[in-house]
This record gives sequence, structure tokens and C-alpha cells, in this order.
Amino acid sequence: MNAPLVDPFQRAIRYLRLSVTDRCDFRCVYCMSENMTFLPKKELLTLEELDRLCSAFVRLGVEKLRITGGEPLVRRDIMTFFQGMSRHLESGALRELTLTTNGSQLERFAGALAAAGVRRVNVSLDTLDEEKFARVTRWGRLPQVLRGLDAAQAAGLRVKLNAVALKGFNEDELLTLTEYCAERGMDLTWIEVMPMGDIGNEDRLGQYWSLRDLRADLARHYTVTDLPDDTGGPARYVRLEETGQRIGFITPLSHNFCESCNRVRVTCTGEIYTCLGQEGKSDLRAPLRGSEGDGPLEEAIRAAIALKPKGHDFDYSRQSVDGRVSRHMSHTGG
Ligand code: SAM
Ligand code: SF4
Repeated sequence: MNAPLVDPFQRAIRYLRLSVTDRCDFRCVYCMSENMTFLPKKELLTLEELDRLCSAFVRLGVEKLRITGGEPLVRRDIMTFFQGMSRHLESGALRELTLTTNGSQLERFAGALAAAGVRRVNVSLDTLDEEKFARVTRWGRLPQVLRGLDAAQAAGLRVKLNAVALKGFNEDELLTLTEYCAERGMDLTWIEVMPMGDIGNEDRLGQYWSLRDLRADLARHYTVTDLPDDTGGPARYVRLEETGQRIGFITPLSHNFCESCNRVRVTCTGEIYTCLGQEGKSDLRAPLRGSEGDGPLEEAIRAAIALKPKGHDFDYSRQSVDGRVSRHMSHTGG
């Protein structure tokens, strides 16, 4: 039995978020610039290498695997990878296999995902207005995503919507998004916009809508009850008494919860980032490719986790964007 992964602050690492591609069929304004240069395909880990990598993490005690990107469902043959991972669900080693997606390909893949053992999916959706959706995603079309949501529910997947809180953009949709989710039995989580990557001419500080303010707005319309934290993740949840639904808040800016962080992130080229909000990374591709056995890979994973920092330094409180990191969210997968 391998010793579990524990970082220098005694946090057990049980959760891996894997970005399987840096490419995307959308260009969300807070995530990417319109003209992105993507990695040459040969830099990417193959599907077999991604499988070996995840299997090593599972052996080392990772119980939850979230696939992300870029847009994970635009990676060619990605269903082969999901099908491969289902053996770890069947063995009981992996408790959850899930993904974060923009929903554009869900209509095509929802059934296959469910068949591979996926039970829940997070879909990113910031607005229910077609024109605003086209504006914020630059290349996306809302009806396609809404059909994807229907397909996911029809396939039996539980759906959670993730909305980035954007000042002057979706403040006026707080109630419509809440009602949309209540009617469909979907959870809804709001995310504060984080200062990651060059996004062209967009104004980060201008985009920032504090979730403290959002929560106060919600409390003007609903009875909001705090729920105890049982996820170990960065989201905090409330229940709206009138509808019974759960609303989550991911607040890296107005409040951070790094002390309970149980996760690491790996990019599609095999870089491991042990903190979303710091530049520090280690390479897993060389040990993966350098040996047929997994010993060097496991050693490299342990060495990287021994360097996991205490937390991030994002801060807008001095009326400037501090603690910015240079890579895009699509690089590490959010
Ligand atoms: N393409 C998939 C999607 O959009 O769900 C998965 C990758 S995307 C990078 C993961 C999440 O990061 C999405 O919910 C997206 O809204 C969020 N995101 C991207 N850039 C962000 C930023 N600067 N601040 C906060 N969240 C961001
Ligand atoms: Fe693509 Fe997701 Fe980034 Fe939007 S947030 S550009 S969908 S990776």
C-alpha cells in the first residue's frame, strides 16, 4: 500500500484536476484573448499517457478526478480516456469521475459520459440571454449549450451550473439564473473573476463583482441559510429556503479557503501546479516518458506535492489587481 499524498501543511491530496487540452471552441472574455496561440499537438500527453498519469495518482490515494481544459470535450477521442478511467470507478479506488465543460458538446457525449460512470457534470454558463452569451463567449451559441444541458439531464447526469460573476454583465440575471436552476433541479455556483493570463483589452478590476454583494442581493429576495462545509473545496454553500436549492460561492478574492485545499492540477503537457494562484510548477512528463515503470513518476508527484504552497495571493483590495498569475485559466483548467 502506498503512503497517501500529504503536503507540508498536513493537507491530504485526494483530488486531481486534469486539463486534457488547452484548446477551446469558445473565447470567453475573462478567460482568453481572441487570438490565442495554442500548444503544438506534439507537446500534449497522449491519451495513453494521460491514463498512466491518472492511474498513478489513483494509486497514490486520489479519489476524485475532474477532467477540464480548455474544453475537454473537444479533445479528439476523449471518450476513450473516460472509458479507461471507469475501471478505477469499478475497482472502488476512484470515488468520482467528473468534468467541467462549456456544454457545447454535451448533446453528443452525455450518454457516453454516463455510460463511463460519470454521475455529475459542471457546466459553465454565465447568462441565459442569447446576445449576451455570444458576446461573453465570443464564439459560443446559447441554444447549443441549452440542448447540451437537456441531454445531460436526460442521460441521468446531475448538473451544476457555474457562473462567473461579472459586474455590469450578469448582475441583472441573478434571479433569472437562480429560477432557471430551481426549475430544473440544478445547483448553481458563482465564481469571482480571477486575475489570470493576458485577456487582451478587457479590464479585470472592472469585471469584478464581489460575491459578498451578490449574496446580499440574493438575501433581498430569498431567505438565505448557510450550510455547513462538507466538500473540503473552496466553495461555500447556502440554501434558499423558498426553493430549497443550493447556491455555491467560490470567493478567492473576498475570502480565501486555502487552508482546506485538497487538490492539485495537471496540465495537458504534464505540468503539475499545486496551487491555482501561484506560478510554481513541476514537470511530470519527463519522468513519465523516461521510464516504462511508474516509480520515477510517483517520485516526481511526491516531490511536487512536497512543494505545495500555503495559498494564493490574489488581491484586489488595494484598488489594483495584485497577485496576478501569467498563465490563462485554460492552461491549468480552473
Ligand atoms: N471550458 C470548460 C468550461 O468553461 O467549463 C472548462 C475549462 S474553464 C477554464 C473552467 C472554469 O474556469 C469555467 O467555469 C470558467 O468560467 C472559469 N474561468 C475561466 N477564466 C476565469 C477567470 N479569469 N476567473 C474566474 N473563473 C474563470
Ligand atoms: Fe473555453 Fe472554458 Fe475558457 Fe470559456 S472558460 S474560453 S469555455 S476554456
